[in-house]
This record gives sequence, C-alpha cells and structure tokens, in this order.
Amino acid sequence: MNGAYENILNKASQQCRDRGERLTPKRERLLALLLEADGPKSAYDLIAEHEQVYGESLAAMSVYRMLNFLVEAGLVHKLATTNQFLACSHISCDHAHEVPQFLICDDCHGVEEVGMQRNLLNELKASAAKVGFTMGGQQLELHGRCQKCSGSETN
Ligand SMILES: [Zn+2]
Ligand SMILES: [Zn+2]
Ligand SMILES: [Zn+2]
Repeated sequence: MNGAYENILNKASQQCRDRGERLTPKRERLLALLLEADGPKSAYDLIAEHEQVYGESLAAMSVYRMLNFLVEAGLVHKLATTNQFLACSHISCDHAHEVPQFLICDDCHGVEEVGMQRNLLNELKASAAKVGFTMGGQQLELHGRCQKCSGSETN
C-alpha cells in the first residue's frame, strides 16, 4: 500500500466518523477496489473482483447497500447513465467538493471527474429558475471521447 493510497483511506474513514458512521472493513475493501480500478465498475464487476482479491463472495444486495453508503458518504459517485460506480477523485483534498462533471469516454469507458465551473452551474440554475424549478444536488454526465481515444483516430 503506498502512502497516497493510505492517506486516502485515512481521510475516507475520518469522513465517515465525521458523519457519525463507520468505514467498516467490508466497506473499506469495496472502496479500495474502486480506488485501484482504472475505470468505473458495476456492482457485478465489484462482486467478481472482491471474490478474486479477497476470496469471499458477496451478495448483490449487500454490495448495493455498501455502495449506497459510500455514495451517501461522498466517497464514491454513481454514474446514472451507465449504472456504474467510481471512487471520488477528491477524497484526500481539503477543498469543498464541487458539483461534479463526469466526462465519460464511450470508447475506452474511462471517466474523468472535473469540477463544474461556477458560472455554468449558475446559468443552469437560472434557466431552471425561470420556470420555477429549483435544482437540487446535481452531477453532470457527459458522454464522448477522451483525448487518448480521439488522438488515435486516423481520419
Ligand atoms: Zn468527487
Ligand atoms: Zn480535489
Ligand atoms: Zn477513451
């Protein structure tokens, strides 16, 4: 386990304690799998990987429960458009979490989490407010092609 990784897990369990909850060893294992992943994972990917790495098979229901916990704790994000999960890239950061914008590559399925620009967010809020709509906590999921995949294009 390298230092950066350990630091992230320490921050993660601190974040849970701050919420009066606990990052149990089981939840921590799931988070660790997501931190080590090179892309977003479905619950079923995680069940398979958990069995491979820890030699223990988990029931889908308990995996969903643990994932929900991690999402609520702000440690993991759920991508609604692909029904996959990924570890937050800002767990060890001290700044407040911005409204996340996920750039999802439809070729390599890699995802980048970037903070949404304040003025863009305000514009969205304003246009919703025009019709009397109040935006809640949001995330934006944008599909397309990452730099690596667009770069390898020949045409
Ligand atoms: Zn995040
Ligand atoms: Zn950050
Ligand atoms: Zn890509």
